[in-house]
Amino acid sequence: MAVVNIRRDVDDKFYRYRMPLLMTKIEGKGNGIKTVVPNMSDVARALSRPPTYPTKYFGCELGAQTSFDEKNDRYIVNGAHDAAKLRELLDGFIDRFVLCKSCKNPETDLIITKTEEIVRDCKACGERTAVDMRHRLTTFIVKNPPKNPKKSKGKKGPADGNTASNGGQHAESPVADVDAEADAGAESDDELMKRIKAEAAVLTTETAIAKEDWSADTSPEAVRARTKAVEASMAAVNLADDESDEDPDSPYSQLGRWVEENRDVGPVEVYKKAEELGIAKKHKSSQIIAQTIFTENALTEIPKYLPLFAKLVTSEKHQKALLGGLERLVGVTYPDLTAAVPKILMHFYQADVLDEEVITQWGTHVSRKYVDKETSKKVRKASEPFLKWLEEADDSEEDDEE
Ligand SMILES: [Zn+2]
Repeated sequence: MAVVNIRRDVDDKFYRYRMPLLMTKIEGKGNGIKTVVPNMSDVARALSRPPTYPTKYFGCELGAQTSFDEKNDRYIVNGAHDAAKLRELLDGFIDRFVLCKSCKNPETDLIITKTEEIVRDCKACGERTAVDMRHRLTTFIVKNPPKNPKKSKGKKGPADGNTASNGGQHAESPVADVDAEADAGAESDDELMKRIKAEAAVLTTETAIAKEDWSADTSPEAVRARTKAVEASMAAVNLADDESDEDPDSPYSQLGRWVEENRDVGPVEVYKKAEELGIAKKHKSSQIIAQTIFTENALTEIPKYLPLFAKLVTSEKHQKALLGGLERLVGVTYPDLTAAVPKILMHFYQADVLDEEVITQWGTHVSRKYVDKETSKKVRKASEPFLKWLEEADDSEEDDEE
């Protein structure tokens, strides 16, 4: 199961607040079509909110009916909605109903005041920040105040009535349940801290500055802009080893992982991600995206991404990197696609992403830069019909001119 940062605008792999990636399943047909979120309770647990809150939030935002069957763990939004859309909405829910408005930490409890206002009580900085009561979800929350599930396990919940309890299902950490999946899960916080400190001091400073700024203007736009700046500086530091695929911290590795986990977000988001990581203009990004964004259905997926590659690929070096990425895709990841190489190349050629000279040069020179020699040979062999077509097209063009 994929795990993502609770704040998806933070691309720090050391960011300790993580949640399972929200999944969707479409059920039914016609008027009865609905979207089930099979892991809603896991996602909600990571956020320390009841699963009904984000579900209802989706309903408010989409103008759709929702239904829950808490016993059977079923959380449903009527209509067909794709995962990318709901994840985007979830970001909004997190921003409005989870993150401390002051420090942006997600470790908050919801408190309903005597005057029926909802407040986020932050464990990290101690601030209490009000929720925007104009949102329709607030009515639902007031009617269905958060409960402390530990009550049932014998531990006493908040006894008095002046705060209608808390939403606080914080065990030791909100990630307790997803720890097993998180790569950093095996490390204790102390070890993690040591590693973070061992990182360039520059980064720590940048992050600290960014945190200070966040209390100044906490609009999502402002936060995103600052996060972007921090990430760009991190990416710059990482560029020293940009040729290494093995370094899991490099922005390229980050981009590759992100693309694999977010294939359905669309080309614009992919470009934004590369930009955020500070590598949108790098030739290697063309390679990374080509080898991670497509699946065994590459032939039908490519047309959608041609504008993205047209934007990314800006030089001969970029073209070669793109070819390298495609070589890995068909040579290593999906060998069944090898036969489709001529069609794949045709797509990129017709969109003016790849030039004839570069394809010809590539197709006639075996290279071990991206794959082993045998695979390289195999892929080039498969490309022969296209190279031949290019040559013939050339000839006939010349004929036309005469
Ligand atoms: Zn706070």
